Amino acid sequence: MTPSVSLLLMLLLGLSQAHPLMEEGSVAEIPVDEDDTVDITTRILTSNNVTDEILLEGDLLAPRTRNAMMCWSQNCLWRKASNGLVMIPFTMSSEFTSWERQKIDYAMNTFHSKTCIRFVPRQNEYDYISIENKVGCFSALGREGGRQVLSLNRQGCLYHGIIQHEINHALGFQHEQTRSDRDYYVRINWENINPQMAYNFYRQNTNNLNTPYDYSSIMHYGRTAFSIQYGRDSITPIPDPNVQIGQRQGMSYWDIMRINMLYGC
Ligand SMILES: [Zn+2]
Repeated sequence: MTPSVSLLLMLLLGLSQAHPLMEEGSVAEIPVDEDDTVDITTRILTSNNVTDEILLEGDLLAPRTRNAMMCWSQNCLWRKASNGLVMIPFTMSSEFTSWERQKIDYAMNTFHSKTCIRFVPRQNEYDYISIENKVGCFSALGREGGRQVLSLNRQGCLYHGIIQHEINHALGFQHEQTRSDRDYYVRINWENINPQMAYNFYRQNTNNLNTPYDYSSIMHYGRTAFSIQYGRDSITPIPDPNVQIGQRQGMSYWDIMRINMLYGC
């Protein structure tokens, strides 16, 4: 099959799966942070340019044991303890300075204060997140089983929003603009995307938890992600093309709601 035929097929397949949601709009919650002005995806994708990991959609580690699209069964979620909290063991590379550890702790604490997720230093648990200073910002999707790497490169990834973004992948959340109903809310400008990168924009069969499409999600790409040329948008919100996407300040109202819904907090 030629690339254009397979692309068309993907589009048609995607269209046949789509269904509209009645709700719309959402409220962004913006914690104070950061000197950064670059949107989150630009930063993540720039950091990941030189990585040799196999990454899907820019910063998702290619799953070893299952299809990333099917990460909505209980098997790929972290388990809830009898006290109602979801304890997620983690280790942190000794390469991080204490200031860098504080940044990561601070991002983790936002999950502690808004959800039932609790990151706890690993003792001897089998499943855990290993936070490492690899080349790039990336994570596995959901709980993989055993040790799973969440990479936060010291140079490019230690921003509040990026840390939250990668943690959200580890909790099981995919990118907002690949969710099943996205074609009602954004237009993917395939002509502005390198065909070899087009797979990053394929629609996924996601569990949207009956929540509205969220332009302000921390999981949403910016409008020029994977663009072939500076200034050309790969993603355009519809019908209003001026809606902001790709924010990097922190989790939105719906980002937090979804964690609480998915994990039954
Ligand atoms: Zn991502």
